[in-house]
Amino acid sequence: MTTPTPNHIVATDGRLDLLNLDLRGCEALAQSLGCKAFHGRNLFKWVHKHGVDDFDAMTDLPKGLRTALPERAYIGQLDVAAELPSADGTIKWLLQLPEGQRVETVFIPEERRSTLCVSSQVGCALDCAFCATARQGFNRNLSAGEIVAQVRHAARRLGKPPSNIVLMGMGEPLANFDAVVRATDVMRDDLAYMLSKYRVTLSTSGIVPNIYRLAEVSDISLAVSLHAPDNALRDELVPINRKYPLEELIPACRAYLRGDSRRRITWEYVMLDGVNDSIAQAKALGRLLEGTPSKINLIPFNPFPDSGFETSPPERVAAFRERLLRSGLVATTRKTRGDEIAAACGQLTGRVQDRSRRVPAPAVVVPPPVALGRAVSPQL
Ligand code: SAH
Repeated sequence: MTTPTPNHIVATDGRLDLLNLDLRGCEALAQSLGCKAFHGRNLFKWVHKHGVDDFDAMTDLPKGLRTALPERAYIGQLDVAAELPSADGTIKWLLQLPEGQRVETVFIPEERRSTLCVSSQVGCALDCAFCATARQGFNRNLSAGEIVAQVRHAARRLGKPPSNIVLMGMGEPLANFDAVVRATDVMRDDLAYMLSKYRVTLSTSGIVPNIYRLAEVSDISLAVSLHAPDNALRDELVPINRKYPLEELIPACRAYLRGDSRRRITWEYVMLDGVNDSIAQAKALGRLLEGTPSKINLIPFNPFPDSGFETSPPERVAAFRERLLRSGLVATTRKTRGDEIAAACGQLTGRVQDRSRRVPAPAVVVPPPVALGRAVSPQL
């Protein structure tokens, strides 16, 4: 079976969602309507930089274009089903898709920067043992426009774009390759959200062929959900490892850096009590990453009902980090933000009509019999 394709790139009346277009797409649209490419640039700027919805308010577009546009195109909107502010300033938005499903977007303010965490799919097909999104199953990919709409919504709501964007919300971004690349191009465009390659980070569970593909078309920053220092444990925690084991993943990540000494891979490592948090495992991690420019981000496990895992005690996280530092690695501990509104890593569930017919995961870590090559499994 093929991946369900986003059904909202064009509306049922055949009109185009402008948020699916990058700068060149907007230029081509303007030209197809008898105008100049620079009118398309202005249109792109109105939509993204100025966040304007009304074509008539786009005063430097020719009158003819302003009249023609609504017949050919619309600006996609995600309805805000809920806005949940947390005491620490984190805001979670539950955004409603046209068919009634919901995805989640999280805004995390910090002293000198802010980060927006966006979703790339409705649910996720990858079945990582400790992730609440995985429990929802998978329904479909988001279109590029639906990914960009999350950024546009935040920029308009907050009065300016976030300083950083991470593709760390619901879904596996590299399983929705084309839409994600298009959306990150828009995030980076100077006429839109103006984010540098260092400030847009894609997080993947490790779909190796698509890491190589990404290197060909983009230079955004890469984070990888590692979570284990060896294949035996990673096979259980991150089942995609059975298809793309560490000996393939690490070289792909190293190749992604293209020898640029200013760049490094961020490795995410969720700290699970008694599972992956021993000193011996920290040592093994040091050996695994030797020679790869790396930063390790230790994430205290964020619990959710029936997960079957516990968070490592803070002293164990600190000792694990110390051991990594001794191996010469850069290691930080991610501060948990927004957990009282279930906005922390791995807690985003949205509302997903599961099409993967996943059976509820068992409470203990037992590898599912056929975790890979499931019927509904996007471009793995
Ligand atoms: N599918 C991509 C994008 C999700 S990023 C990926 O796997 O990288 C979300 C990050 O939070 C990932 O590193 C994920 O492994 C981690 N995570 C998932 N569940 C978690 C939980 N319950 N507590 C802490 N981190 C979790």
